[in-house]
Amino acid sequence: MKTKLQAILIKQSQYSESSLILQFFSLQQGTISVIAKGIRKKSEKQQLLPLCEYELLAYEPKEQGLWLFSEANIIRNFSVYPGSATWAAAETGLELISHLIIPQEDIATIYNLTIAYLEYLKKVKSNAILIFWRFLNRITILSGIGNPLSNCCICNNALSLPSAYLKSKGGFVCENCLPEIYPNDTLLILSPPARKILLLLPEIGNHLEEITLDRAVVNEINTAFALYWQTHHKQTLHLKGLSVLTQFYNA
Ligand SMILES: [Zn+2]
Repeated sequence: MKTKLQAILIKQSQYSESSLILQFFSLQQGTISVIAKGIRKKSEKQQLLPLCEYELLAYEPKEQGLWLFSEANIIRNFSVYPGSATWAAAETGLELISHLIIPQEDIATIYNLTIAYLEYLKKVKSNAILIFWRFLNRITILSGIGNPLSNCCICNNALSLPSAYLKSKGGFVCENCLPEIYPNDTLLILSPPARKILLLLPEIGNHLEEITLDRAVVNEINTAFALYWQTHHKQTLHLKGLSVLTQFYNA
């Protein structure tokens, strides 16, 4: 049966000389893989653009497997950004989505958040990685493992200033608890710029221009989020796009 879906194209990969496998994040079905037979032989105009939102017509597989592409009409174009770092942030956001196993009842929330993320990035000229981290934090919460930035993992009080990440406890440590911890190899003490960014993260959109990032700070924050994800999901979160995005910041 042919089904109409509203879907963002995450990526396309070559299947044969003439066919592509399209990975979509759809509002109705979550992430799906669609085979588009013969699409590479079609005109330029009929090629699809990753990151864009489409009205997709496709045939649902009888059992698990690939959907069969019929046609797609663009709804919103999210393939153009003010710079290549911003574009990389958009792509990394979708890569993150492609790693999730999303329960049916959460699909719409995550879909709308993703659309809002891509829409927001269209006007971000610098420091798009800050918006990516805000998105990553929201997705972390929606993935059911809590908000890493809400409470100190030692005293459990509201985290006024995230000051370190403690691997053995799987969480951030507040500035009051940090002096109490004997330095050890599971304690990652955050630099002042990293602390400030994490503190401002929920409203980071208002601070894009004033924050200066270098690769060391970017790596600190990437590492803390990755460790939190790994501990609480018991699964590594490896985002290729994030390595690319990190390259935009000077060492
Ligand atoms: Zn504390």
